[in-house]
Amino acid sequence: MVEKSESRVEPKVTPHNGITRVYQADNVTENPHEFIVKYKGRKYDIQNLLKKHPGGSRIMKPYKGLNVDEAMVTNSHSIAAFHLFEEFVQSNQEEYQEIERLVDWNAPLLSQVGSLGDRYWEWVNLPVNRPIRLFASNGLERLTVTPWYMVPAVWIPIIFFLLYRGCSIDLKGNFVDSIPQISFAISWGILLWTFLEYTLHRKLFHMKPPADSKIFITLHFLLHGLHHKAPFDEQRLVFPPVPAMLLAVVFYTAYEMVFPVAMMNFAAGGVAIGYLCYDMTHYYLHYGSPKAETYMYVMKRYHNYHHFSYHDEGFGISSRLWDYVFGTAITLRNLKKAIEW
Ligand SMILES: [Zn+2]
Ligand SMILES: [Zn+2]
Ligand SMILES: [Zn+2]
Repeated sequence: MVEKSESRVEPKVTPHNGITRVYQADNVTENPHEFIVKYKGRKYDIQNLLKKHPGGSRIMKPYKGLNVDEAMVTNSHSIAAFHLFEEFVQSNQEEYQEIERLVDWNAPLLSQVGSLGDRYWEWVNLPVNRPIRLFASNGLERLTVTPWYMVPAVWIPIIFFLLYRGCSIDLKGNFVDSIPQISFAISWGILLWTFLEYTLHRKLFHMKPPADSKIFITLHFLLHGLHHKAPFDEQRLVFPPVPAMLLAVVFYTAYEMVFPVAMMNFAAGGVAIGYLCYDMTHYYLHYGSPKAETYMYVMKRYHNYHHFSYHDEGFGISSRLWDYVFGTAITLRNLKKAIEW
């Protein structure tokens, strides 16, 4: 954590999360802080991959010090997974990542991504294990990162405000008589959110920018591309409150046309509740370790498939409802053993 926040305020990025990789000869005594596996004759220190591995950490434990050539094939891995794996190679990393040399990872990325042109789409869908540095200026950079707790800190008061506003100006009769109506409006709001979550993610966040448009590529990178490029950059995971509130104002104006005045604020509150649950769920799916046969376990696997295998499917994060409705649901592979993250 300390390393990470420090790397954000340095004028230059410390690549790879500040982790330096030193090649070690075979006869060096075992270091408890590393977890070496061999693949195609090269050595990988996957200590920092264990917790992040979409297939879980347990499955990798028996391979300490061993060759994983066969295991990488028998447990099928996507192109994105192999790309991520190369982040952990101990020597000559640059050799194996031709595409990462298209940008200078030691300089701010925002001004570079637009120039990737027709390679952008391929690049952005190949995940790395590094934090993203957008701006050279520390002040600007700080404005672009959002710790997860900012989301409840901002949105819980807004939710209470909307519900309070609904109670104080909208209710004709007394509160108790209105409870069924209020619950109905809030439920509609939550359902509306699940639809927005799906539609925004599929249609806006995954809209492929034209290869010759630096502006659209940069916008795509800011909106969602950076999360796919650096899925382990935890400060760029939740939606920053300022642009979210601007979007919310636009939607709030639209509710006035859709919902009766008496129910509008409750419906808006429902949308905000849905959003809050979604963003906290998204964070948890990336960093939590849900147990097998729980709802979150299924959703974590589902979201991992979206990140690492099927970028054009599996857009639902809090639920799979709209993926089923619109035919973009991903079928999870049957596993012999449950995943332990
Ligand atoms: Zn794996
Ligand atoms: Zn996505
Ligand atoms: Zn994600």
